[in-house]
Amino acid sequence: MILPGKRFFMNTGTDQIRDSLVEKGLKVTPQRMAILEAIYTLNNHPTAEMILDYIKDTHPGIATGTVYKVLDVLTAHRLIDRVKTEKDIMRYDGMVGNHHHLYGTESTEIKDYVNEELDEILKDYFKRNAIEDFEIQSVKLQINGKFVKRGNNK
Ligand SMILES: [Zn+2]
Repeated sequence: MILPGKRFFMNTGTDQIRDSLVEKGLKVTPQRMAILEAIYTLNNHPTAEMILDYIKDTHPGIATGTVYKVLDVLTAHRLIDRVKTEKDIMRYDGMVGNHHHLYGTESTEIKDYVNEELDEILKDYFKRNAIEDFEIQSVKLQINGKFVKRGNNK
């Protein structure tokens, strides 16, 4: 499926992953590397379980607790973001830049939606319509709907 808007920032290479850890002042550990790589490769806003499943072949001894701990560290350092769905399952996002989400209510699939025009409209709207007693830090839309299968969409 091809989405409108352009994709930005996908650090998929091993070297880039290592660099991004170093840049944040984090120690490069095999677990951190593997978990980041899993998130970028899966590219579907995976749950901790999906990540664990992905890395268990290369890191058979890794404990669930370790995965959660690493995810917390990576989130705290803004290398990844948390995404909460209405099913209350925490998922993880490898794209930390400003973007929105298309959420398939049936499939629970989440796809990134990047659209600068929309961002401008939202920014402009809230500039003109400030919310009383509330300071906006970011606006992230979750657009609910149904993915219509076509082409090579899985
Ligand atoms: Zn996302």
